[in-house]
Amino acid sequence: MYTIIFIIVFLLGTIIGSFLNVVIYRFNTSRSVVVGRSICMTCSHKLNWYEMIPVLSFIFQKGKCRSCSTTISHQYPLVEFITGIVFAVIAFHFLPILYISVNTFVFLLSFYVFIFSILIVIAVYDLRHKIIPDRLVYTFAFFALVSTFINTTGIGDLFVVPNIWSLSTGIVLALPFALIWLLSRGRLMGLGDAKLILGIGWLFGYSQGIAVLVLSFWIGAVFSLIVLLFTKMKISMKTEIPFAPFLILAMIIVLYTGINIFKLSALISF
Ligand SMILES: [Zn+2]
Repeated sequence: MYTIIFIIVFLLGTIIGSFLNVVIYRFNTSRSVVVGRSICMTCSHKLNWYEMIPVLSFIFQKGKCRSCSTTISHQYPLVEFITGIVFAVIAFHFLPILYISVNTFVFLLSFYVFIFSILIVIAVYDLRHKIIPDRLVYTFAFFALVSTFINTTGIGDLFVVPNIWSLSTGIVLALPFALIWLLSRGRLMGLGDAKLILGIGWLFGYSQGIAVLVLSFWIGAVFSLIVLLFTKMKISMKTEIPFAPFLILAMIIVLYTGINIFKLSALISF
């Protein structure tokens, strides 16, 4: 039964993922996100339905356009696949709610896949352009703030009035990073990252929000080490490493494992 739910949510995720690819590609260009058929970027060949199946079309066409054989970017199937996985993780996270109320489960699932769709666009955009667009990060922060009004336990009213404690999380967690940005004049940390952390605080609260931050630094450190050891890329203080993908990966891990800072620190102290 659950397997079917996960498969459906995963497939839905890959479809949304291919839409997110379009959003990423057309963001900040004059082309509309919704209007206009998908075409090959090189030969303008209009794609048929069987050339637009998420992940699979890329595999069957061996990553090439059927018309002009131009190589298609790996970004397309990767974003589709990752979106599918992220959607399935969200469904897994809210599975206990399904026992209590199907409607609440569907609502929470829809709300969170929407939020994480914005985050996936931010992650890929940061990877490609090393910048987090204000419009995207403020939209995320807004809906993260809205999430403090939602009761995710599935018991009692769906909407609640948040207390000062949960309203303060975003600001308190983001403040040190905004300060680092200010003092390092943007060299150590971008202001975009601080804005992202504002939303992380509201979405996850204190104990899980801090766990997201700690995890993202660990992932970032491991990633930098791998790059240093196995590639010829040189990392110095001047190297701009996009931080948003690490933050977002950490959010997905925290969502999946339910880990918070207390469990995380218990994990490393023997
Ligand atoms: Zn083509």
